[in-house]
Amino acid sequence: MVARYLLSAVVGSCLLSTAHAVPIPFTFDYSGEGANEGFNDPTLGARRKESLELAASRIGAVLERSYAGESIAVSARFDPLGGTATEAPIALGGFPFSVPTDAAGRWLGAALPGVPLGVPSTSYAPALANHVARRDLPLPAGTPSFEVQLVFNTDIDGAALGDSDFFYGDPRAGQGAAPAGDIDFLTLAMHEIVHGLGFFSGLAADGSYQGGRPFIFDRFLVNGDGDPLVGLTPAQRAAASTTEVVWNSEAGGGDEATSYTMYTPATFVALSSLVHLDPQAFDDALMSPAVEAGGVAVTRELSVPERVMLADIGWTVRGVPEPGSWLLLAAGLACWRGARRRGQGDASVGQPAAMAGGRSATRVACSNAYAS
Ligand SMILES: [Zn+2]
Repeated sequence: MVARYLLSAVVGSCLLSTAHAVPIPFTFDYSGEGANEGFNDPTLGARRKESLELAASRIGAVLERSYAGESIAVSARFDPLGGTATEAPIALGGFPFSVPTDAAGRWLGAALPGVPLGVPSTSYAPALANHVARRDLPLPAGTPSFEVQLVFNTDIDGAALGDSDFFYGDPRAGQGAAPAGDIDFLTLAMHEIVHGLGFFSGLAADGSYQGGRPFIFDRFLVNGDGDPLVGLTPAQRAAASTTEVVWNSEAGGGDEATSYTMYTPATFVALSSLVHLDPQAFDDALMSPAVEAGGVAVTRELSVPERVMLADIGWTVRGVPEPGSWLLLAAGLACWRGARRRGQGDASVGQPAAMAGGRSATRVACSNAYAS
């Protein structure tokens, strides 16, 4: 474990050399929380907020603003999502609505002179749409005021997963590791926030796209033959989604070294298939589909693949170099791969809960946990 953290530190130091970047700040809306519940809990509320806000700042520090005043609004609450003594959903992360482009790449089909276009006929997470457009896009009246939506399972701190609870420790105070049996809330919150930034596929089990158009994330997915999923028939996409799907990086140059295997269990799992990295290939990645209780999954950093993927979909990411300085990232990848541990066996996940919301469906992804 010591060696692993050392290697991670090496990766961090060689990747975080970009100077003069302005991190993206987050704002938090806890108004969906009841009195004395969740983030307002008299005992745990303050630590929960501190841990969530620290998670957001760690993500924000990896990103760079694309326009003055850019910030990301998060709505967060705790709800009882249930679970058994051995298996439970632990959180949902996503965005309350999506921002589509038309066939010309115009945001919401509107002409906005001087505003960078998006990829045509594509859906974006709202925070990402603003980032790519380099402004707060004019949204229709009634649109939710937040861009990232997070729900954490209160039952984890109760009966679900037996004695396992969330660990809200603050590494700044030297509480670096979650105690055996507990789930690192900082890791979990970072994971869910990344989903809310657009680390999310719109592909359904039948191979269709939610809302009739792919998310920008979907435009980087290819099947085992290297064919982009967006160019295939729904039946072909459905077949790929339960066999092999790979992220074909643009920021990474599209070569083999920057193709990442996505999570494609043999039975399609809504909100989990394709929106996570393959845990067999990336068992320590922040964006794995499941975490095991017991402090194994303390992953408080975005890995190089995850940074590259966020850059691909349009975020300005610190440490993802411009073309011409590729040696640096190659070194980072080698560090990461050298730090990988053995596989952890089957990481199948249960059927997650779903959230409803707003005029358009809430886009959420689910994390599940297992007591060991
Ligand atoms: Zn997830």
